[in-house]
Amino acid sequence: MSRPTPTRFDALAAVKPSPARNGGGSAPGAPKPKPIEQMFGENVFNLAEMRARLPKAAFKALMTTIEDGKPLDAGIAEAVAIAMRDWAIEKGATHYTHWFQPLTGATAEKHDSFIAPTGDGRAIAQFNASELVQGEPDASSFPSGGLRATFEARGYTAWDPTSPAFILDGPGGAYLAIPTAFASWTGEALDQKTPLLRSIQALDEQARRALKLFDVYARRVQPTCGAEQEFFLVDEEFAYRRPDLINSGRTLFGAKPPRGQEMDDHYFGSIPERVLDCMNEVERELYRLGVPVTTRHNEVAPAQYEMAPIFEDANTAADHQQLTMNTLRRVARRYNLACLLHEKPFAGVNGSGKHLNWSFASEHGNLLEPGDTPHENAQFLFFCSAVLRAVERHQDLLRVSIAHAGNDHRLGANEAPPSIISVFLGDQLTDVYEQIEDAGEATESRQSGLLGLGVDTLPQLPRHAGDRNRTSPFAFTGNKFEFRALGSSQSVSFPATVLNTIVAESIDEMTTEVEEAMAAGKDRDEAMRELLAREVKAFKRIVFNGDGYSDEWVEEAEERGLLNLRSTMDALPHLVSEKNAGTFEKYGVLTKRELESRHEIFVEQYFYTINIEGETAADMAQTMILPAAMRYLSELLLTAERAEDVGVKVKGVKKTIERVAELVDDLREATDELVEQNAELGGDEVDEKAEHMRANIIPAMAKVRVAADRLEKVVPDDLWPIPTYRDMLHVK
Ligand code: ADP
Ligand code: MG
Repeated sequence: MSRPTPTRFDALAAVKPSPARNGGGSAPGAPKPKPIEQMFGENVFNLAEMRARLPKAAFKALMTTIEDGKPLDAGIAEAVAIAMRDWAIEKGATHYTHWFQPLTGATAEKHDSFIAPTGDGRAIAQFNASELVQGEPDASSFPSGGLRATFEARGYTAWDPTSPAFILDGPGGAYLAIPTAFASWTGEALDQKTPLLRSIQALDEQARRALKLFDVYARRVQPTCGAEQEFFLVDEEFAYRRPDLINSGRTLFGAKPPRGQEMDDHYFGSIPERVLDCMNEVERELYRLGVPVTTRHNEVAPAQYEMAPIFEDANTAADHQQLTMNTLRRVARRYNLACLLHEKPFAGVNGSGKHLNWSFASEHGNLLEPGDTPHENAQFLFFCSAVLRAVERHQDLLRVSIAHAGNDHRLGANEAPPSIISVFLGDQLTDVYEQIEDAGEATESRQSGLLGLGVDTLPQLPRHAGDRNRTSPFAFTGNKFEFRALGSSQSVSFPATVLNTIVAESIDEMTTEVEEAMAAGKDRDEAMRELLAREVKAFKRIVFNGDGYSDEWVEEAEERGLLNLRSTMDALPHLVSEKNAGTFEKYGVLTKRELESRHEIFVEQYFYTINIEGETAADMAQTMILPAAMRYLSELLLTAERAEDVGVKVKGVKKTIERVAELVDDLREATDELVEQNAELGGDEVDEKAEHMRANIIPAMAKVRVAADRLEKVVPDDLWPIPTYRDMLHVK
């Protein structure tokens, strides 16, 4: 009988020479990379480049847009286009692209060359203001959620001067990428960036207004973001042998390996050399693109890692986060590695998340910094309360902003924040708020040496509000909030958009109240005190400092009336509620139509994701796993038959035959059911289809997996057609 290539020997192939072992990376004698100061930003058309290349007036005009958020002076585009083109061509770029973020969660680009024929057989490099400012990609193949009929294919990209253009290069050439917003012909946002920019503007406006209550006059307030990224790196030899990893980004099969993460030996361990070489190169590429990545370490699961940048303004940070994911995927292949950004590539070991660290700052500093002086404390408590109030009122929106099929595997499993949104504040701050609640004002802080409340009545706070708590989905971590429930593969734009918008709303409403009280003759401090005392009572149910992974919390949260939206399908309807639509509309972030289109796209994405998984699982079961089991069965039957011929008793063989035959029955039955469910889509409407996925396909897939994983434990290793967890997780 012919046998397939024994896949377990892939493990040996997997440690084949990597670039490092070929004399690149960390191999002795490998060429040293440039010093970091020279490398950082070398592929970015940054402020220094602009200052050097632009006429003074144009540079100054552009700076008022970039730094102060003032409207763009249309007259300067020509000068910028020429400078950008010259710079890009010096860097070896032959093409440019408007780089945008459609609602697929990925980035998109269409390349145009700089070439313009001169009519005499030669060509010159050309790039003008209109090409910089506006692009017109055919929008019909991007998700629009009904915002655009296919016959209205027009879509526009618009230059975002506040995020710097950059060059993407490789051995085969280089091109200029210009960050842009993407909208339909009717002006509706079809992308992640446009609403993010609108929400940044809304927060800026409201926060600057509120600062005036404290006699602070800021030029600009901007949200700041730093996203920690978790990911897996596995040998690509393994990854490409698994149709599930190729199609779905996660394994749909795989028995629990003898060794998982129980040894706790991977977390913060020394980074394996091949991985370190790969990460070094990822970082070098990101430095060249001006992305300030700074920390890296092993994560909890075997083959899992994390990296994080230094925070930046939210818009740049969101662009840079997309570049980080792209770069990780791209560079991994140079090391024969596959980077898995899925939330749950492997069952039974930890999944991957993304922590969105978020705050907002004016040119005078971080507005969520507790600070030392009573005056600043008052201001801090005002803004911090605005965040708590916003989270309490819009738990549902925050939950929706992280809802997608991949993240459903994490939220609520005991390794990631639960699907209940709550805030960890730490003992100190919680105590302050309790005092305000009980006495209308706080007069002391728990730690000795720390003085009373801000506006003469609010307390001075410790710089770090106490302990860390890893189980909270939304934690105050000293001078920022950390939204920890994001999925590893998702764009940070929408969660950041939601945060900016709902906090802008709370700041607006709180500011209005104080302004009105003061206009009616009330003392500012008195008005603040009344406001906070009342608000604390309303938002305190969102504060939870205990163990978010415990069952008791689920019960307690229910008693407190907090939402527990377990799956994406439970969460998504909340996106379009009257309350949420009103908030988005009021602050000019998303119109009702834009919001509804997003809802439709999110439902559709959920449907497609699971539909693909269901089809892939059925294919693999029928074309890989069942045949392997059958081969084994046939060998066993042959052995039994021969034994009978020569009169040898083979009880063990017969018992094995029975066991395997039984498992084959189970797998056959489960697979038939899955195939049947796959054929039926549950209805014609996208929400019916999505609901069919949740209610029928997911359980059907789970049954197939149980049977297949049992078979993996008994079918001979050399017959098993797909790489196992045992190999994938530990060959580094
Ligand atoms: P930890 O793993 O303890 O959460 P890290 O240092 O890995 O901490 O990540 C913290 C992240 O928070 C970094 O990206 C950091 O730049 C970011 N950060 C720090 N201050 C702010 C801030 N004011 N606004 C937004 N992000 C911030
Ligand atoms: Mg963190």
